[in-house]
Amino acid sequence: MARKKPGTIKTFMAAAEVLRRYPQIHTRAFLIIGFPGETLAMINDTAHPVRFNVGRNNAFFVDSFANNNVDLNDLAWFDRDPNPQYPWAPTQGELVTHFVVERRERAVNGSGFPAAHAAPIAPGGAQEQYRQDRSQPGRIVSQVSSANPTTPGDTDATFSDDSGNQYVVTLDPANQPVQRQYTPAAPTPAAPGMSSVTPPP
Ligand SMILES: [Zn+2]
Repeated sequence: MARKKPGTIKTFMAAAEVLRRYPQIHTRAFLIIGFPGETLAMINDTAHPVRFNVGRNNAFFVDSFANNNVDLNDLAWFDRDPNPQYPWAPTQGELVTHFVVERRERAVNGSGFPAAHAAPIAPGGAQEQYRQDRSQPGRIVSQVSSANPTTPGDTDATFSDDSGNQYVVTLDPANQPVQRQYTPAAPTPAAPGMSSVTPPP
């Protein structure tokens, strides 16, 4: 997925907010399709549409399987591009790949959450293909949430790869991200464990 376009979720949303103030300007958005593993047959498969309600603070974390909400505030807590220091950490694009493929799995095969969630994570699955497209190592083997071990009421969303590296986003009791952590399996001086209370720039 070599792309040389400046558009990001941030710039699309900012542009949409400006354009909304000027209804006399007719606007349309065209996005290029072609997810990892996506075929023409899948693109033409109008019998199994996958739709999302994109907003802010509308899902527990990133997306809701129950109502298809997607929370752009949560997505902003992931790197847009592979992190040079922590290239194994999942990017926004990998997260989007995850929930799109997960929902298609439900639309086509009627899968419930566990099977749908597992589909994009599987070996050779869409997420691994996406990472290969972006020259990222390994693959994410687990995406789970659990109680934060130190702060009562906080929740950790933990992404682990096949080498034991972990990217963790901590949510406060109101489900707002309050911290992110890169925890390499084998920290080095160049890539020590790192935590931040702000999203990536
Ligand atoms: Zn999932």
